[in-house]
Amino acid sequence: MRPVIFCLFSAVLIYTVTGKFCDESQCKRPSCVCDTQGSPEGLRVEDTPQFVMLTFDDAVNVVNFPDYEELLMNGRKNLRSNCPIQATFFVSHEYTDYSLVHELWRYNNDICVHSISHLPSTEYWKNANQTIWEEELGGMRKIISKFANIPESDIVGVRAPFLQTAGDVTFGVMKSLDFHYDSSMPTRQKANPPLWPYTMDYGYQQDCQITPCPTKNYKSFFIVPMVNYFRKLEIAPGHFLDIPCAMADACLPLPETEDETFQYLRENFERHYSTNRAPFPLFLHQAWFSNPERKKGYFKFVDWLLQKDDVFIVTIREALEFVRNPQPLDNYKQVCKSPKQSTCVSNQCTYSKTPLNGPRNMKCCGTCPANYPWLWNVEGN
Ligand SMILES: [Zn+2]
Repeated sequence: MRPVIFCLFSAVLIYTVTGKFCDESQCKRPSCVCDTQGSPEGLRVEDTPQFVMLTFDDAVNVVNFPDYEELLMNGRKNLRSNCPIQATFFVSHEYTDYSLVHELWRYNNDICVHSISHLPSTEYWKNANQTIWEEELGGMRKIISKFANIPESDIVGVRAPFLQTAGDVTFGVMKSLDFHYDSSMPTRQKANPPLWPYTMDYGYQQDCQITPCPTKNYKSFFIVPMVNYFRKLEIAPGHFLDIPCAMADACLPLPETEDETFQYLRENFERHYSTNRAPFPLFLHQAWFSNPERKKGYFKFVDWLLQKDDVFIVTIREALEFVRNPQPLDNYKQVCKSPKQSTCVSNQCTYSKTPLNGPRNMKCCGTCPANYPWLWNVEGN
């Protein structure tokens, strides 16, 4: 498994990049969306649906799939629409079982790219050139498409490993490869009230927590900001510090009981729900569930959300559909999707020689490629 710790603590120079002022008379939905910490299109807060975006990063395999199954394929539904809840997966290649990725996709979860190599070096990602980013992102989309049997056009989101982009190099590649959104950019300054997703027609509009940040404009390309979480730390009796983090599982100290976990998630949710209802990110790694109490707290929180008739747990892609075309709660009609037929005939492939240290297995849909797919040979020829 990935050393989660690396994912969680990259970071942290803070300075502000000011994008050009977004001109609302020129920037019109659905193709152009200005950044806002207010309400979209003058919606009253109480009339705004509250979207919740559950995401999971890294390899998908038999270790973590049972938790995804329990969460997403167990009859949980949004109260108002009666549609099944869905999540978004940022998938990296090594140790991924593509027949399980197909299952997640079949249940209408959103499958996105999190690189091929997930190399544990922020310097690598920061300094990678255009060709490397194209291979890591475009190549991973090809791998998912071929081995999980998912149309390439259905894979539209990106999260950079360790949230480390190379600024404009990475954003230029995402845009030119026709990805639709990035969700790698944390914001602390725009966490209260939280920042809504926006397009980069007028550039990057938030604090730069992990340098470099993009400086150019990218037409109709969305940033789904990683609005920071805060964890209350008692430093002296009655005195608290708010510890910020980009992903929900990175805030320390880790909650250790069901109740503590529930309260932590709920407090962060309320900052969205009671202010402007910007889509609420619940971004983490399944390893956070290794403590069974914490897992219970997460599930309790999800089930608590599902008792609210103005809350919708959806993929990032579906939340962005709303951001492009916002409407009051009473007019919003979520269209339910039923699971697709499986088109995956799975095979277990084994490779004694790989470009990595040692042998690897790979379960995929269709025939096994001759070689273990990797950078510069994504089809495994
Ligand atoms: Zn990762």
